[in-house]
This record gives sequence, structure tokens and C-alpha cells, in this order.
Amino acid sequence: MFNDIDPYYALFNFWTGEVKIQAIILLIVVLVSSLLIERPWCKYLCPLGAFLGVFNFISIFKIRRNKSICISCKACDKLCPMNIVISDKNVIKNHQCIRCLKCTSEVGCPIENTVYIGTKVGEINEIK
Ligand code: SF4
Ligand code: SF4
Repeated sequence: MFNDIDPYYALFNFWTGEVKIQAIILLIVVLVSSLLIERPWCKYLCPLGAFLGVFNFISIFKIRRNKSICISCKACDKLCPMNIVISDKNVIKNHQCIRCLKCTSEVGCPIENTVYIGTKVGEINEIK
């Protein structure tokens, strides 16, 4: 139902003659902006991402930072593909978080178990 405006449908079907001009234009916009911005479609245009992002506010499983052991090196901020600032928050509620879990990995944070995905109960256990 979204084929007429779907740049990814255009990308994989542009030779078929079934792709509408507006989808081709969107594809060009996404490709050109990708040269300047990381993940422009995911960040600013994807309607499914916008819908799913709402659940970041109500999910009981959230990305959490244990501030008692964080050394404020900001490595997590630099690694986040959605440019979310993690290092000054205890809980990430940002609708743009795609739960890639890069910030929870040892590459994302040098201090083990500082950033993790879990519930409030998990956080209390972590600090104990
Ligand atoms: S899970 Fe991924 S998108 Fe979400 S804050 Fe961590 S690095 Fe960023
Ligand atoms: S990478 Fe880990 S230690 Fe460094 S600022 Fe982020 S949460 Fe804190």
C-alpha cells in the first residue's frame, strides 16, 4: 500500500516501470542525504520507526546507565548511530533509539555493566 512513496521499493524495482515518480524522488533524497547524515531515513522519514518509537516511552525494558560507576568518558555518545546523548541520562526514553544495543557492548562502554537494557528492578539489583 506504500509502494507509491516507498524509496526502498523504488531502489529494488526501478527497472520494472512500476515505480512512481514520487518514490524515485524520495529515493534520490534519501541517497543524497545519506552522504551527509547517518541513517536519514531511519532518523527523519520512516513512518514505521516513528510508530515503533512511541513504545520506547512505555516499554518496561529501557536502556539504562548506572551513573554510580560511569566515568563520563562519553564513548557511548560517540558510538550511538542515532546520535542520542547517553552519558548524561540514567534512562534513555528517546523515541529515536532503535535498540541496537551498541551502547551496552564493551565497545560502546569501557566499564562493564554501566549501560544495559533492563527494568527498574534490574537497575536496583545492579546498583546493589
Ligand atoms: S541502543 Fe543503540 S540507538 Fe539506542 S541509545 Fe544505545 S546505541 Fe543509541
Ligand atoms: S561510555 Fe560508559 S563510562 Fe563512558 S560516559 Fe558512556 S556510560 Fe559512562
